[in-house]
Amino acid sequence: MSRVFVRKATYDYSTLKHVIFEIMDSSAAGDMISKNSRVVIKPNLLAPAPPEKAIITHPLIVRAAAEYVLDRGAKPQISDSPAMGSFEKLLKESGIRKALEGLNVEYREFIESETVDTGIPFKKIEIARDAVNADVLINLPKLKTHAQMLLTLGVKNLFGCITGMKKPEWHFRAGIDRELFAGLLVKIYQAVKPTVTIIDGILAMEGQGPGKGGNPREIGVIMGSRDTVALDFAVCKMLRIDPDALLTNKISGEQGLFNGDISMDGELPQIKDFRFPEITPLVFGPKRFHGLIRRHLVQRPECKETLCRLCGECWKYCPAEAITRGKKKPRFDYEKCIRCYCCIEVCPYGSLAARETLTGKIARKALKI
Ligand code: SF4
Ligand code: SF4
Repeated sequence: MSRVFVRKATYDYSTLKHVIFEIMDSSAAGDMISKNSRVVIKPNLLAPAPPEKAIITHPLIVRAAAEYVLDRGAKPQISDSPAMGSFEKLLKESGIRKALEGLNVEYREFIESETVDTGIPFKKIEIARDAVNADVLINLPKLKTHAQMLLTLGVKNLFGCITGMKKPEWHFRAGIDRELFAGLLVKIYQAVKPTVTIIDGILAMEGQGPGKGGNPREIGVIMGSRDTVALDFAVCKMLRIDPDALLTNKISGEQGLFNGDISMDGELPQIKDFRFPEITPLVFGPKRFHGLIRRHLVQRPECKETLCRLCGECWKYCPAEAITRGKKKPRFDYEKCIRCYCCIEVCPYGSLAARETLTGKIARKALKI
């Protein structure tokens, strides 16, 4: 049985620090840290954004985890591979550098990778060397919605261990099918095996997350577990959805990594009206029409011209090279687009959203999907 800790919390540092320290002690994760341990702290550092936007793990949670590691005599390394923007800019704009001022920590972007044989179907996956070789990996996700995968929690946070432009490459290879992509995320999780996962659910994100298209939503909890899948499962219960709606949970269950047995330490609140992104199938209808259906009927990224600043982040990142610069906004080639919704994730101005075409809506209704 996997133990999941849930505590009410705010960003008041003295109480927050107590909560993080308590979870590290009670879960026995702290026992894994000794003086010479290589300890990597992996927050969600998706993109440069201030904490009130709820895009990144709050800097004070990173600070508390770093202080815990320092108290145990080890030197923490703060690492991630952001989807956009430089690592340095992100540390500054997110407030992490300031929040951790005076602490003896190392900041190191995940750049070098190591090839890990993960077996069928992906076989060799290149994963951040520092994450694979860490003695202790402290996984600090943010509780957020995700336009493609529904939510980004503990398992999904580890996709940041795929470095730089290898991320869009994997989106291109596996993102065309949500279950396949979830399977990839589970493989990465198994390869890096976080020692403990503590999720920032104080100011969460709902709506069209995980980037600037989402809306901050106060939930007021910190949750932690040695078992990342159990933690994700408990978060789904808190948000009142079937845990298998999060495909990484479903696949972990199918692969025997988790059997749904959780022992809750603390009272799990019930959040009744959490707003999820609308997830429509990436393909539906008879198989021989899948290509046509995907191109014309499946929810696709669209741009709100008034918000677009033609910054180019979307076309730089698009794994399918389906975006080009237009006069006032990007131009999409929906024939090429694989519906990974990465462009929505990386747009710094929240000008992109996934929209279903009218014909798609009508077709789905007719097919009762
Ligand atoms: S849609 Fe967003 S990412 Fe793309 S050019 Fe416009 S502002 Fe930049
Ligand atoms: S246009 Fe957007 S959704 Fe389509 S493939 Fe490119 S990044 Fe993915």
